[in-house]
Amino acid sequence: MTLGQRLRHLRRSRGLTLAELGERVGRAPSALSLLENGRREPKLSVLEDLARALSVPVEELLRRQAPSHRAQLEIALEEAQRDAAYAELGLPHLKVGTRVPTDVLEHLVKLAGALRDQRAKPTATPEEARLANAELRSAMRERANYFSAIERIADQALAPAGYTGGGALSQGMLLSVMSHHGFAVRYVQDLPRSVRSLTDLRNHRIYVKQEPVGTHSPRAVLLQALGHFLLGHEAPRDFADFLRQRVEANYFAAAVLMPEKAAVRFLADAKDARDLAVEDLVDTFSVSYEMAAHRFTNLATEHLDMPCHFTKNDSGGVIYKAYECDGLLFPADPSGAIEGQRMCRKWAGRQVFSAPDRFSPHCQYSATPSGTYFCVSQVDPRTDRGFAITLGVPYEHSRWFRGRDTSTRMRSGCPDGDCCKHPPADLAARWEGMAWPSARAHSHVLSALPAGIFPGVDDADVYEFLDRHAAT
Ligand SMILES: [Zn+2]
Repeated sequence: MTLGQRLRHLRRSRGLTLAELGERVGRAPSALSLLENGRREPKLSVLEDLARALSVPVEELLRRQAPSHRAQLEIALEEAQRDAAYAELGLPHLKVGTRVPTDVLEHLVKLAGALRDQRAKPTATPEEARLANAELRSAMRERANYFSAIERIADQALAPAGYTGGGALSQGMLLSVMSHHGFAVRYVQDLPRSVRSLTDLRNHRIYVKQEPVGTHSPRAVLLQALGHFLLGHEAPRDFADFLRQRVEANYFAAAVLMPEKAAVRFLADAKDARDLAVEDLVDTFSVSYEMAAHRFTNLATEHLDMPCHFTKNDSGGVIYKAYECDGLLFPADPSGAIEGQRMCRKWAGRQVFSAPDRFSPHCQYSATPSGTYFCVSQVDPRTDRGFAITLGVPYEHSRWFRGRDTSTRMRSGCPDGDCCKHPPADLAARWEGMAWPSARAHSHVLSALPAGIFPGVDDADVYEFLDRHAAT
């Protein structure tokens, strides 16, 4: 782009037309026009000919700097027009000729910049969000959810704390990790509601609210903030970038709170003793159940040679997070999105809600079309909304787990077939056409709601409710 601008600038300042310059270098004017418009990269020999014809050294043509303020604006507008946000306006391409006044150019470039900034905000339509989630999940699956680069950065970050391994990271160690990287921690009560933490990059302070809840406990939130910094994150370009950064920062926080060496040693010992259990990670490293289960997926496949899956769902079965490298078939929409879909009623993540003690681990064997899995599910008591966190492994790996002696066995035909997606025929016959539910909005799910007669509504639940209440 700049090369083309410099070329045009030099040619005009020499009073040459495209045809005249083309004559001198033995090229068609149209070919030179392509170069000047940045649509072609010139060969070195052509560059040398051009430089000679314009009596400048080749370096002069190759300088990155725009030849003038005007040229800089022309470049900026040309690039802006190639931007997706600009293209979506559907305007015909504006050819910036010499007659476009410079102040008009300035306005256009400013406007295009504002448009780009606005579009770059990490928001997304449900379609974009679902696509971004699906792509990220497949990237995670490819590396068995193990990111060696982040493990290394977490290990180095932890080094100054003098952590020798074994248990939880103390508050003192945490603060020394933060201060080693130049950050002071401030606990405040008036943090904006929309943020978990706020980092003041000028004064190197991280603000957090003092409230110990779930994965968002102050320790995890602080480390997520530090993670963004140490992983070199910049303002996210789009929603996919935002999502990737959030996953990486969460990974970093978990890798500091459950350091690779210590956690793998712990898990390997438990495996040898045939006593693997997520809740032991929770107790030993003082982390939330969700973080522990997710950390298990980082390390189990890489270090214990064990495929696994992870889900987070609400009491209605709507999936918020899902990961698998063990072949389990999740419900998915046509775009491959899993978030927002409703999981099978027979799966552990739903059964746990009707278990006698939902805050204790619920173990079961689930026979599914893709095989039988041993799953442990628990409702995280530290979240106010009640999410079930499930970790599962293929049947043959159940022998390493505590709870494998459970007699609970479920058979699931989902996601295909006639398993639980349709209400039982007699119920449907009684109530079809006679129910008008008003769906609860799931605005927090960044994806489409499970499809039903009414989006987001479980028809079977509705019909059962009606049946029950109609009888009294
Ligand atoms: Zn089902």
